[in-house]
Amino acid sequence: MIIGENIHKSFGDLEVLKGVDLHVKPQEVVVLVGVSGSGKSTLLRCFNFLEMINDGKITIDGHMVNTKKDNLTNIRAEVGMVFQHFNLFPHKTVLENVIEAPITVKKMKKEKARALGMELLKKVGLEDKANVYPSKLSGGQKQRVAIARSLAMEPKVMLFDEPTSALDPELVGEVLQVMKQLAEEGMTMVVVTHEMKFAKEVADRIIMIDKGTIIESADPKNFFENPQNERTKQFIQLVE
Ligand code: ATP
Ligand code: MG
Repeated sequence: MIIGENIHKSFGDLEVLKGVDLHVKPQEVVVLVGVSGSGKSTLLRCFNFLEMINDGKITIDGHMVNTKKDNLTNIRAEVGMVFQHFNLFPHKTVLENVIEAPITVKKMKKEKARALGMELLKKVGLEDKANVYPSKLSGGQKQRVAIARSLAMEPKVMLFDEPTSALDPELVGEVLQVMKQLAEEGMTMVVVTHEMKFAKEVADRIIMIDKGTIIESADPKNFFENPQNERTKQFIQLVE
């Protein structure tokens, strides 16, 4: 579903991604871990064309990400992204936030979009909040709206960049639960998170990125019980 080959990305003199190879199969859930500054967010942003890569190749569901700008909208429609900060439109209701993109980008009829929006709000457990404004929601609720909003574009892949890091601890579980459900339904996902319980339970594969290269890639059991790289061993000691 995602094929990344030899991805290089620099910001000026700073080489952030140094030849990353990452293949994500359809319906696979990959959790990406690594210390701060290792390049996790940059990699996700390359997958969504928020960053242009300097070298290498990225293909999402058969479409090249890095060549022509004219397929940018297609790529963005196929790849949903959820960030640490939810960035909901404050002057729009919850439902309006969810249906904005399908209406403006996909030219979906309003009625159809509303039906889809309500279905997605139900999925994330917020159908009763459809007509309220984001300021009336908790952080966990806002993040669930952000997930519903991404899903409204019917993406083939969902990228999550520390979706629970900005939340109070008691609100983390409800967001992870929605993500877990999404994974169980077969969504292809790449998730940057520090939630190791989630990684153990939900990930098919955990990938450790260190200074811009992948140094470990294994299923959760092997990742935690039999890490190959010294830096992975250190990381595991820190998070467990
Ligand atoms: P964190 O866990 O703190 O979120 P990360 O692994 O997501 O870290 P990135 O955000 O990918 O790390 O950043 C990797 C490196 O690239 C950092 O040194 C960062 O300062 C640098 N960087 C990221 N974005 C830019 C940018 N737009 N311009 C210049 N440098 C950048
Ligand atoms: Mg980051």
